[in-house]
This record gives sequence, structure tokens and C-alpha cells, in this order.
Amino acid sequence: MNFGRRFLAPMALIVAASLVTLGLGLIWLTRLQDGLEQEREVQLTASAVNDHVGRMRTFVREYSFWDEAVRRMALDLDTTWADDNVGIYAYNLNRFEYVLMVTPADEALYAVVDGKHAPIDPALALGGGYVSAARQLVRAEGTRAAGEIAGITLTGRGPAFFGIARIRPSSADVQLPGDLKRYLVVAKLIDPSVLANIRKTTLGTPIRLAAAGSPPGAGQLPLTDADGKPAGLLTWEPERPGSALRVRLLPLVALIAAAICALAAMVLSRARRAAGELSSSEANAMHLANHDSLTGLPNRRAFNDHLLQQSRSGEPYVIVYMDLDGFKDVNDAFGHATGDALLCRTAARLKALCPPGALLARLGGDEFAYVIEGVLGEAALDALARGIVEAVRDPHDLRTEPIVVGTSVGIAASDGTDFEDVVRRADIAMYTAKARGRDGWCLFDPSLDEGRIERMILECELRRAIDAGELSVVFQPIIRSRDETIASVEALARWDHPTRGAIAPDVFIPIAEESGLIIELGRYVLREACMAARDWPFAVAVNLSPAQFWDRTLVDGVLATLAECDFPPERLEFEITETYLLRRPEAAAEVIAQLRRHGIRMALDDFGTGYASIGYLQRFELDLVKLDRSFVERIAFDSDAADVALAIIALGSALHLPILAEGVESPEQATMLATAGCAYMQGWHYGRPMTAADIGSKHCGDGGPAQHRSIAA
Ligand code: C2E
Ligand code: CA
Ligand code: CA
Repeated sequence: MNFGRRFLAPMALIVAASLVTLGLGLIWLTRLQDGLEQEREVQLTASAVNDHVGRMRTFVREYSFWDEAVRRMALDLDTTWADDNVGIYAYNLNRFEYVLMVTPADEALYAVVDGKHAPIDPALALGGGYVSAARQLVRAEGTRAAGEIAGITLTGRGPAFFGIARIRPSSADVQLPGDLKRYLVVAKLIDPSVLANIRKTTLGTPIRLAAAGSPPGAGQLPLTDADGKPAGLLTWEPERPGSALRVRLLPLVALIAAAICALAAMVLSRARRAAGELSSSEANAMHLANHDSLTGLPNRRAFNDHLLQQSRSGEPYVIVYMDLDGFKDVNDAFGHATGDALLCRTAARLKALCPPGALLARLGGDEFAYVIEGVLGEAALDALARGIVEAVRDPHDLRTEPIVVGTSVGIAASDGTDFEDVVRRADIAMYTAKARGRDGWCLFDPSLDEGRIERMILECELRRAIDAGELSVVFQPIIRSRDETIASVEALARWDHPTRGAIAPDVFIPIAEESGLIIELGRYVLREACMAARDWPFAVAVNLSPAQFWDRTLVDGVLATLAECDFPPERLEFEITETYLLRRPEAAAEVIAQLRRHGIRMALDDFGTGYASIGYLQRFELDLVKLDRSFVERIAFDSDAADVALAIIALGSALHLPILAEGVESPEQATMLATAGCAYMQGWHYGRPMTAADIGSKHCGDGGPAQHRSIAA
């Protein structure tokens, strides 16, 4: 997931948009304020200008609408009076640059310019605004509108306020002939003092006067003359409260912008963390699914996926299987914590040896594997395997005493077949290495015989099964022919493999015998049998393999187990096969004698299949002979077999040796054998091998045949 594209860019956009909006909003607002202020200034300035015009009007009205002015100026010009009361006076009082008395023909009869008498051409000096106002006044004579006119005119010296009015009496005391028209004209140049005066009203910045038609400035008011023509332009530097506010607000805005940025950063970091958590939990789940939680190595699933990809790519590869030897003992002796620590250390050692680019996986329990890409020569593989074996064997200082485990390594190279086959070959090679004595390695070679391999695999599995408690013991009843009561039960080993299901004793007992595991297995069966049969009212028969029979510790071991289980030796019977007796008769006789001395009974199993002669039967001290199932099987239809069986039975009677017929499956067989003198019967006709619980409930429960104690006569 691209966090930047998914979150960063839109967030940056949002932040940028917010900041721009904030900035533009501020500018817009402050400009608006500036604009409003400017309008106000223009209005104030305009009203100040109007005030000045109004003042001109007032003045000109007061001084023209006056009897004395009619008398001393219009009717008969008294210059001294006019100077003292109007012309010079107005200049001194108001600094009116022009004070004139003109005729309708615009002839100046009296003119004071800048406080002095001066000849003047009014139209020329006072400009168009004045001219049009004067004409308007002359034209309007006699109408009610005729009074005074004030306004602005552009004089030769610049724009000026002016006022014009006809000089007329203010009372009836003075008479003015209708045709005597004299006009009082005043004008005041818009000079710096006027501008300063205007400024007093606006309270703004200094106002300047520019020529009409000057380029428009920020603060300005165009002046138009009485004729509507431009007469000048008042300009000033406008107040900008908005701009000032903007400057003042700048820190606040910066603060808000910073807050927005901080908020965005916070949201982003939260989002990033959330996204990170999400993706990390995703990755976590993926990791958990594909990795072993203890060592952190890829697990079997990851191993299989890797192999699948590797085999799809068509590139060659090598599988190196490693199975620890003796790991279980460590677990048992020191506990799981130590076992786990050892596994982790071993994983680290294997990791260190892992060829570059190779995969190291923990396939389960104490199994590891490499998948190495490419083709490796035998020498290289040998070197690698030796390295592995040596590294794993290096003692671990996990406890006060160093702990040592070994490893068996199996190696197989791909050859175009599917990877499962390569895995199987590596497995076979590993088991071969184990069978060859552990702590070694083996390269797969097609000559590795499948049957032998199967046995080797089974041997390894059996070793594990004994520890794992996958073995159990069942019991098959042995019946007295005379009253069909139970004389004893035969203990038979069972192996229920977790994946392969039940494995027959005919398969695993020979393997146990060859590998020496039979000693351990036999001890286990004996203990289980004694424990189970302790309270049963009959004896228990246990099979004894040759390897056990020749084991020097047999007698002591058996006695110890009997004592441990508190089981009377008299109720124990061992079944041995004749092959033992034939090989070393003297030694065998000695072992039999020892066991019998302790009260244990001895039975000869599978009689008739070997070469045991009648002489041997006599020579060994036996308590029972079990006629092999193969005779019983044929007894009903094979007269030769029947003859042999009958002869054996007769022989037994002669030697005072009770005979037990094995594998009795039908009532006919039972009848025949009983008639022939067989003392005991065993077979499906009487009962299949069953669990201790079944024996207990079926044969030892209420009303059970509790009178049977022993198979011996
Ligand atoms: P075995 O000692 O001759 O045991 C009798 C075998 O015959 C048992 O097979 C039993 O289930 C089977 N059997 C009993 N009645 C009948 C019947 O009516 N018809 C047929 N067809 N078979 C019947 P199982 O349990 O498969 O044992 C096979 C052999 O494995 C045993 O032969 C014995 O040699 C060996 N074995 C079994 N358990 C042990 C053990 O704990 N220790 C040793 N050393 N060997 C054992
Ligand atoms: Ca037996
Ligand atoms: Ca048998």
C-alpha cells in the first residue's frame, strides 16, 4: 500500500486548500474593509467640499442681500466702504482671493484680487464654471430661482470655490431700479489651507490637489465645475484599516495555519499509525501462518510453497532434511523450556550454515530442512552435511552439564519429478542415515531399497511411538477344553499409528527385534500386562522374543517389574519360540530353569513350524506347548495336518505336557481338538484379543468364572 498516495497527497491538498481559503478570506475581508473606508473618506471629502461651497453661498448671499451694499456699491460705488466692508474685508477674513462686482455683461466695476485692487477680466480669470453660473443667474432674473449660485470653477490659478449673487436690497428702505444689475462675486482658490481644512473633516491623510484628468489614485475625489466639467482632482493616501488589520492578524493567521498543519500532521500520523498497524497486523498474520513461532523460521507450509514455486520455475534444487537425534531425551530429562532453547540454538546454528539464497525451514518437532537452489556436486553436499552434523553436535551449555544432540541428514536433488517425490527421497535418505547409526548423512541414491527404507522408517517411527505411548496391549482369552472356562489371557502388543493407522505386530515386532527396540517394547508389554491382570482371577501369558531371551538382565528385569506391579510370578507365563532353543540349547535351558525357579511358567509357542524335535521337548522344562495355528487351520480338511496335530497332542500327553491349540476359529475345530486331548484352546471361536477393560468387564465381572487360577494342570 502506498501510504503517500493514499493519504499524504489528499491531506496536503486539504491543508493547502484550507490555508489558501484562510489567506484569501483574510485578504478579501481586509480589502473590503479598505474599500469601505475609502468610500467613507470620499464621502467625507465630498461633504467637506460641499461645506465649502455652502459657505461661499452663505457669504455671497449675506453680502449681496444687504441694503448698504445696494446703496454703496450697486447704486453708487463707494470704494472705501466696499474695501472696508466687502472686498479687503473678505480677503482679510476669509482669504477670498477674488471679490468682484460685475455687470451682466461681465464687466468688473470693482475688483479686489488677493486683497488688492486690480483690473480683471472676470471670465478669463475665473473660468468656465463661473461664466456659466453668471449666465444662468442673469437668465433666471425675475424668477424665484434667482438667488445665489455657488460652486467650483477652474480659474487661471487652479480650481476655486466661488459664489455669485445679485446685489439687492434686504428691506424696503432702499429701492433698486430693475435694470440696474450688479453681481457680487467671491472666489476662494482651493489652496493648501483649504485642503488642510477639508482634511480636518475627513481626519485622513493630507489631501493634495491634482490636475483634472490625472491618473486615478487610491483616494480621490474629482471636482467638477458648475458647468459639469472637470475642474481638478483631490487625492490622498487612503487609510487602509483592513491592511493594518491584516498585518495585525498575521500572527494569529500564522497560528491558525500552524494549527491546521499540526492538526493535519496529527491526523496523518494517526492514519499512518493505523495504516501501519493494519498492514503490520496483516503482515503479522501472514508471518504467523508461514513461520514457526518458536524459532521464527519458515514453517512446513512456507517450505512447501517455496518448493512448489521452485519446481514451477524449472530450476534445479537440492533438499537437505535434518532430524535431530536424541532430542526427545533432552525434552524428557530437562523439560520443555530447555528443549525449546536447544531448538532455537540449533536453528541459529543451521541458519549460520545456510548457503546464500537457500531457505531454512522448521518442518515440525525436531525436523529442519534447507532448500538450496542450483546443482551441487557430491563433494559440496558432503561438506555441507558434515558441517551440519558437526555444528549440531557441538555441546550446548544450557545447563550445568553440557547437552549434546546429534542429527541425521538426508539429501536429495531435484530431477524433474514433482517436488513431493524429492521430499520423499530426502526423507528416505535421512532415515537411511539414521539407520546407519545416526549423527551422519546420506545422499539419496535410487539403489536405496524401498522395502528396507520402509523398515527403517518404521523403525524410527516405532522408536518414537514407544516414547509417545502409541503402543498398547490387548488380551486374548485362553480356554480350558474340559469346561470352557478361562485359564489365562495372552498379552499381545498393538500399535496404533497416528497417521498410518493400526500397524500389525507381524510388521513391527520383527522390526523391533532387528533394531533391539524389542527389549524396551517387551518391558513395556510385561508391565502393562501385569498391571492390567493384577486383579484378574487367571494367569497372563507374555511373548518373549529371542533378543529378550538372550538379554542377560532378563531375569532381574522381569523380577523387578513383577515386584513393581506386585504381581505373583506364579500367574505369569512366558511364550518362547523354538528357534531360541535350537540355537543355544544349554543356555536356553538355563534361562528357562531360572525363570521357572521363580515360579514363572514357560510355554513353547508356534510348535510344529520349526525343527524342534521331540527330544528337545523332553530336554527343556516346559509347562505348555502351543500347537501352531497352521495345523489347526488345516485340521478339518487336510488329513496329513490332522495326523500331525493328533500325533503332537498324543506326544504331549505322553510327556505330561499340556497342549494348547492356537487359532481355533470354528466349533468343528474345537470339537476335534478337544476329542484329541487338547487341554487348552485359543482362537476367535472363544474370543478375539480385547482391551484390558473388556476383559475386566466380560470375564471378571459379577458371576465371572473366578475359579480359574492357572493354565498349568
Ligand atoms: P502369536 O504369539 O502366535 O500370537 C497369536 C496370534 O494369533 C495373534 O496375532 C492373535 O491375534 C492371532 N490369533 C488368535 N486367535 C486367532 C484365530 O482364531 N485366527 C487367526 N487367524 N488368528 C488368531 P497378533 O496379535 O497379530 O500377533 C502376531 C504375533 O506377533 C504373535 O504371534 C507374536 O509372535 C507377536 N507378538 C505380538 N505381541 C507380542 C509381544 O508383546 N511381544 C512379542 N515378543 N511378540 C509379540
Ligand atoms: Ca504367543
Ligand atoms: Ca503362536
